[in-house]
Amino acid sequence: MRSVEPQVFLVAQPAIDYDQLAAYLREVGGEQWLERLDRGDLPDGEKASDAQNLAEFAGKMCYRAWEPGLNPNVRRVRNDHEAYLQNILKQQHGSVLEHASFTFVLHNVSRVLTHEVVRHRPGTAVSQESLRFVRLDEIPFWFPDWAREDPELMKRATGLLDQMEEFQRWMAQHFGLDEEGVPFHEKKEKTSFMRRFAPDGVATGIVWTANIRTLRHTIEARTDPGAEEEIRLVFGKIAEIMRAEAPALFADYEVRDGAWVPQWRKV
Ligand SMILES: Cc1cc2nc3c(=O)[nH]c(=O)nc-3n(C[C@H](O)[C@H](O)[C@H](O)COP(=O)(O)OP(=O)(O)OC[C@H]3O[C@@H](n4cnc5c(N)ncnc54)[C@H](O)[C@@H]3O)c2cc1C
Repeated sequence: MRSVEPQVFLVAQPAIDYDQLAAYLREVGGEQWLERLDRGDLPDGEKASDAQNLAEFAGKMCYRAWEPGLNPNVRRVRNDHEAYLQNILKQQHGSVLEHASFTFVLHNVSRVLTHEVVRHRPGTAVSQESLRFVRLDEIPFWFPDWAREDPELMKRATGLLDQMEEFQRWMAQHFGLDEEGVPFHEKKEKTSFMRRFAPDGVATGIVWTANIRTLRHTIEARTDPGAEEEIRLVFGKIAEIMRAEAPALFADYEVRDGAWVPQWRKV
């Protein structure tokens, strides 16, 4: 039994092609907006948030609000980037947040967690480690701190997991899976049978992509005090990452005992 910790890796996020954006804005007479918009390095060495810029771009596109006069109905436009995004949240104009997607690897997470994550459907994409293809030769497992502090529980739990691991290895040998010439379909069939003897808590991995609208909703739901302990931990990490990557779109959250509570819900 190998003791593991759930980890979150942000592996992909939006990258704007500012030259293409500029070319489009020249077409519609909105270059002034791009001049105001930060399109590269900020003075303090930080990078501008392409996710935030993309959301503002999509929002301004809706009303042709690059500058006053382009749409005769619009006399004033909001020039402050952060205030503009706050207003998007306040007005629940959340569809513009769907353009920015972030891809995470949730590593060393249990099947308890992955079963719950995949219940969130709109705005997500999922690729999960296949335990039909990937043979378990060990049972990696996460124990919360309170469990680690209980010696009798740990003794019994690790004993059980060691026994399950041993059974996995016994089955692989019994079925002759490592012998020469075993066809892959047979390996797959047996591996799928064998995974039935792994616990829900076995640590595995999932690639999870979600757009910002979905991230806002799932962070709230999955850090709620009523949510499961491991998923609260993982979504707390995702929330911290998102607040760093797109601060203006996550600034309205108040964190209370690990629960991320937004000012504007279900935008
Ligand atoms: C604390 C907690 C406990 C839970 N306990 C259980 C449980 O005991 N049993 C169980 O089965 N599940 C349980 N769940 C899962 C829960 O029921 C939802 O399936 C899951 O949280 C997905 O969230 P969502 O329904 O908001 O949908 P998402 O897929 O995240 O969708 C986001 C929003 O889009 C809208 N939407 C999505 N799909 C539709 C649709 N088809 N029609 C109309 N509107 C839609 C809804 O407004 C929805 O809230 C639990 C979740 C939490 C957070």
